[in-house]
Amino acid sequence: MEKLLRGKTVKDRIFFKKESLKMSRNEKNKAANAGAHLDRKARAIVAILDRHYPDARCSLEFRNPLQLLIATILSAQCTDERVNMVAPGLFEKYPTAKAYAETPQEELEADIRSTGFYRNKAKNIIAACAILDREHGGEVPADLDVLVKLPGIGRKTANVVLGNAFGIPGVVVDTHVARVSNRLGLSANKDPEKIERDLMEVVPREKWVVFCHQLIQHGRAVCQARKPKITVCPLREHCDYAAEHGE
Ligand code: SF4
Repeated sequence: MEKLLRGKTVKDRIFFKKESLKMSRNEKNKAANAGAHLDRKARAIVAILDRHYPDARCSLEFRNPLQLLIATILSAQCTDERVNMVAPGLFEKYPTAKAYAETPQEELEADIRSTGFYRNKAKNIIAACAILDREHGGEVPADLDVLVKLPGIGRKTANVVLGNAFGIPGVVVDTHVARVSNRLGLSANKDPEKIERDLMEVVPREKWVVFCHQLIQHGRAVCQARKPKITVCPLREHCDYAAEHGE
């Protein structure tokens, strides 16, 4: 500002300062209006999703946080149905973190082979469970910062565990949540962590967990990656993608 005012008369300086103040006020108003519009839009979307997907929930089967942690690791690049087929036998054979930690990697690899990427998954499960056993008394800590430090556990897995096993609200951004949020215009970002932040700002906290399950269900059934079924979509009135594609 000082650079711009250099050499100007006092009158000019006052005029310039007033104008720039006006401009920043306008910009602030514009941003506030855009924020309010996004809030209203998010609330409308939440209400529609509640009506259409009232029973949306985690489709992985589990009885305790450790089982959910393992199931979520296995679900990477694999369907939840496939994980649910493998899980009962696995959970029976490995009832504790210590049981996984003490298993030879090749043996665990054979047990989880059908979920794909089994070498990496087995390596991460054994390493993560060794830490749980050694440093957390075999329990899964209900703490995002601790969870994301475990081998093979990113924010997505950590938020799945916190939200569904501990009831701690978190936004889980998987491929469906990212795609549908982008299309709806709830986030313009591609990076999952930034999408997570965008959604946390406009979706009420108590809705975070169920909202993500609803978006996943919607992404699988209606807003599919290649061919979104716009004409039958209950969200089309609020969707940027639909508006842009003239439906
Ligand atoms: S209107 Fe189309 S693009 Fe938008 S959420 Fe629905 S299916 Fe997806």
